[in-house]
Amino acid sequence: MQVNQRIYLSPPHMGQEEQQWVHEAFATNWIAPLGPNVDTFEKDVAHYVGASGALSLSSGTAAIHLALRLLDVGPGDVVFCSTLTFVASVNPVLYQGAEPVFIDSEPETWNMSSRALVRALISAQRNGKLPKAVIVVNLYGQSADMDPIVNICEAYNIPIIEDAAESLGATYQGKGSGTIGKFGIYSFNGNKIITTSGGGMLVSDDLEALDKARFWATQARDQAPHYEHSEVGYNYRMSNVLAGIGIGQLRALPSRIQARRAIFANYVEALGPIKGFNFMPEATFGTSTRWLTALTINPQQAKTTAASIIQALSALNIESRPVWKPMHLQPLFKDCTYISHTEGNSVSDQLFEQGLCLPSGSSLTEYEQERVIEVIKSLVYGGMTHEIA
Ligand SMILES: *Cc1c(COP(=O)(O)O)cnc(C)c1O
Repeated sequence: MQVNQRIYLSPPHMGQEEQQWVHEAFATNWIAPLGPNVDTFEKDVAHYVGASGALSLSSGTAAIHLALRLLDVGPGDVVFCSTLTFVASVNPVLYQGAEPVFIDSEPETWNMSSRALVRALISAQRNGKLPKAVIVVNLYGQSADMDPIVNICEAYNIPIIEDAAESLGATYQGKGSGTIGKFGIYSFNGNKIITTSGGGMLVSDDLEALDKARFWATQARDQAPHYEHSEVGYNYRMSNVLAGIGIGQLRALPSRIQARRAIFANYVEALGPIKGFNFMPEATFGTSTRWLTALTINPQQAKTTAASIIQALSALNIESRPVWKPMHLQPLFKDCTYISHTEGNSVSDQLFEQGLCLPSGSSLTEYEQERVIEVIKSLVYGGMTHEIA
């Protein structure tokens, strides 16, 4: 391997079985959307995460969109959303003509703060405008602390959509991440822990709702010999070829989780002792997949910043990224309401200012990881790369 071969943040990692399933699709000419691979993939995912049913789709974004429509979110409605996330968590709220209100993170999980959620709901009730749904995001492989969030939402009778695009395979109190809310969504985009090159899944215990979503996702064709339509639909289904990749990928998921957790542990061992370096905590309620190794760097304590590290890595052809820029700081959402963790203390702002995601792909070699670690150490110790005492 060349010394300067590019190291990516989270590249696709194909296993042994994917080609066989894709070949099967070719051999039986099930190239069209839908077919036996789609059915198998849905059953396999539902079984793996512990949901009653699953609907495979063209993207995770499509899954969120359908979940919002199932909850009858429309123009004039409000939807509460995690602020620290990728924009795809929120765009479907705009597709439906509704208005997002952003909820801060908590320091323990980096996910939705139940303290902020309570304050937001009290204030929403006072203004006579409770949200139609809450979208909880499970970031970087870790579930949000769902129990308090579920309790609060039940008290107000508000359904939860779990955006588990980044946390497939993680657990919360022994349950699969994404199965605790009324609806859960996964993504199989190229950078996720498993991929179909592009795709998504909607899961729920409400099979009737999934049937409705399946109907909308296939252009909302009414029962008739000709093409009959009485509702707006979408072209949102996953192709049978890509579902074949998904079947193979899902079988490799346990080993992918193990690999990413091991990569995280190596980073912690090598960089954890550096003053001002704080890795994303793993909450005691479950297992994180460590989809991405994320940490914050306190510039007052460390002799460097997240931005300097990103720059130094980039100069050596290594990809790293800041933590997601919170939605309440995005120009797109500048007029939206934002509720911080505690009054005057925004956790997500600080995570964004100091946060860093390191190369975490399950195919990352020991040698490649060592390269990443050496760059960071030399930045901190000014060329000296000895372990510190
Ligand atoms: C990737 C991602 C999505 C969107 O998934 P796509 O399949 O790319 O549409 C949604 N939410 C989060 C948090 C993501 O990371």
